[in-house]
Amino acid sequence: MTALLEVEDLRVAYGKIEAVKGISFKVDAGEVVTLIGTNGAGKTTTLRTLSGLLQPVSGHVRFDGRSLKKIPAHKIVSLGLAHSPEGRHIFPRMTIEDNLRLGAFLRNDKDGIEKDIRRAYELFPILGERSKQAAGTLSGGEQQMLAMGRALMSRPKLLMLDEPSMGLSPIMMQKIMATIAELKSEGTTILLIEQNAQAALSLADHAHVMEVGKIVLSGSGQDLLHDESVRKAYLGED
Ligand code: ATP
Repeated sequence: MTALLEVEDLRVAYGKIEAVKGISFKVDAGEVVTLIGTNGAGKTTTLRTLSGLLQPVSGHVRFDGRSLKKIPAHKIVSLGLAHSPEGRHIFPRMTIEDNLRLGAFLRNDKDGIEKDIRRAYELFPILGERSKQAAGTLSGGEQQMLAMGRALMSRPKLLMLDEPSMGLSPIMMQKIMATIAELKSEGTTILLIEQNAQAALSLADHAHVMEVGKIVLSGSGQDLLHDESVRKAYLGED
């Protein structure tokens, strides 16, 4: 089986600072793959490069059988790669529903869009209850849900989530993680970046640990969950 996403020897720099130093990994259809690692390890930079927001110095990215080299970000979305960025980036003055509709801006299957809006409200009932309210009035956690819902509105082949639980209360975090598990059980392919290594590894089919721009350890989510060095460094165990 060819992978849905293949990343080969990817290097990304900000001027002279090399943030990603030659990483390789793949994501098969239907899998949840997670990147965990310390602050500044290069995880966000990796996702932003896959979305076409940053250009790599070198390396290859293949998505759904084609190279993403020099493909602009909006085209990458239309190929089926959606990104729910760190820090939410919703449009605060627009209603919740209009924010969701923006996620479908490349689609013209009206019935499908309406179905997916209803689906977003099933996944996140609070968004349905407040659908006509300005998105800026939502709490941080609810905005995070909206960002995820909006990314799903493009019906992506691959959903990339950058720290979906950032800044959330434990209960909200559990909700987000349960939603990711539900999406996975429906067959959605997900590339997940998470500070909460315990939660991410519990969900993931495959996981990679990044440190200063490199992948230093890879394995199944369960393997890494039980790996002693991971437990010490990322799960807070002595
Ligand atoms: P975190 O978990 O803290 O979000 P991360 O693994 O996502 O970290 P990145 O945000 O990808 O890490 O950052 C990787 C490195 O690149 C860091 O050293 C960071 O300071 C640097 N960096 C990130 N964005 C920029 C930028 N716009 N200009 C210069 N350096 C940057």
